[in-house]
Amino acid sequence: MVENLLESTSPVFTVGTVSILSGIPGHSIRQYINEGLIIPFKKESDRHLFSQVDIFRLKFIHEQLNEHGLNFAGIRAILALVPCWAIRSCSVKERNHCQAYYATTHPCWEASEKGRECRNTDCRQCDVYRIVEKHPDIKSLLRTLI
Ligand code: SF4
Repeated sequence: MVENLLESTSPVFTVGTVSILSGIPGHSIRQYINEGLIIPFKKESDRHLFSQVDIFRLKFIHEQLNEHGLNFAGIRAILALVPCWAIRSCSVKERNHCQAYYATTHPCWEASEKGRECRNTDCRQCDVYRIVEKHPDIKSLLRTLI
């Protein structure tokens, strides 16, 4: 049961617990949220909750900042390169009306205007948002596409 919980996408951990489990300070976690790099589950009380998958993502961001020498703008730019339109098979018409298709400085989930498919999708569950779980280096993703 504990094992299942640890592999889960269920949002069950508070910021304090995530900080202990990941070794990332709470103020850094809040900063990653403010920078748009992680979308926590939000309770009605406005408190953020995180899953085990979110912890993996937080560690990915932390590593890019502290070991790979990237800054927030650099991480956002890399995530903006993920070809969400190909992964989600957006039509040409949809792409033309989607800000994410053209954005170079922000990941698609930060786009103000999204295609119809994305407007009705929870980004937390989307393969594009979750890409770092399967491809912690984006180049390995590109190798699968091209
Ligand atoms: S649903 Fe969200 S994360 Fe997925 S492609 Fe659309 S904007 Fe990006």
